[in-house]
Amino acid sequence: MTTIPTSSPNGAHAADDGDVVMALDHVSAAYGPFKALFDVSFAVREGRSLALIGPNGSGKTTVARVCSGLLAPTSGTLRFEGADVTGERAYKLARRGVAHAPEGRSVFASLTVEENLQLSQLRRSRPEREEALAGAYEMFPRLGERRRQAAGLLSGGEQRMLSLARVMVEKPRLLIADELSLGLAPIIVNEVYDALKVIKAAGTTLVIIEQHTSHALDAADDIVVLVQGHVRVAGPAAELGDLSQVLLPGSAHMGPSA
Ligand code: ATP
Repeated sequence: MTTIPTSSPNGAHAADDGDVVMALDHVSAAYGPFKALFDVSFAVREGRSLALIGPNGSGKTTVARVCSGLLAPTSGTLRFEGADVTGERAYKLARRGVAHAPEGRSVFASLTVEENLQLSQLRRSRPEREEALAGAYEMFPRLGERRRQAAGLLSGGEQRMLSLARVMVEKPRLLIADELSLGLAPIIVNEVYDALKVIKAAGTTLVIIEQHTSHALDAADDIVVLVQGHVRVAGPAAELGDLSQVLLPGSAHMGPSA
């Protein structure tokens, strides 16, 4: 098995390193009696993008929920910028700078693009809101062109960009993007991934969760492969090389459920 132990350079044992933004150390999680994650350890490093990939039902979204405080681990430790945030609620983690762009479009269809963006920052002063809006339109020029249009009339890819922009106006330190490509035509997926490049270039650390892996792997500095709630492979993309055998459906690496 191509498993890289979690004490590898990308592993949670490096969590004391200054450049680790978030680290999971032997995290397990469950939905009632159903155990979904087992001893998951990996670290997300400053300014890098980590692709979390694996087959259907392998626990990727569950990791995202743990990282964003929507689900408390049953055991193990979650650290954010050196602080132990295990079990901390989602709103507190959001305040620290953790943003979770969940699967789907998560926009208000009947509101305009601009109203959708304004809703994400109701507590801010007017100048702050205007600065955030300008930043969002600079990052996603297409949204600027359609600012007065109802979000429901945008294409699927534009809605996905709007849901990303709604998260980005909060200026997160860490963005967890769950299944960005879901239901999108390949050409639109390219556009959404171009938007991710802009987000990363602006200094946001990324966790990219995908079931369909090629885009995520292309964009990844680090890779974690989850199978049936366990980390099967973890490490820097440059060191892991060709993962096609590991990712092949039915491969021994992918376990019986793949
Ligand atoms: P997909 O790629 O299909 O979205 P995933 O890798 O994100 O899958 P999860 O959604 O994290 O996987 O699910 C991991 C396991 O936990 C699955 O067996 C799933 O059925 C189960 N699960 C997920 N959410 C819940 C829930 N709210 N209650 C009970 N079981 C759940």
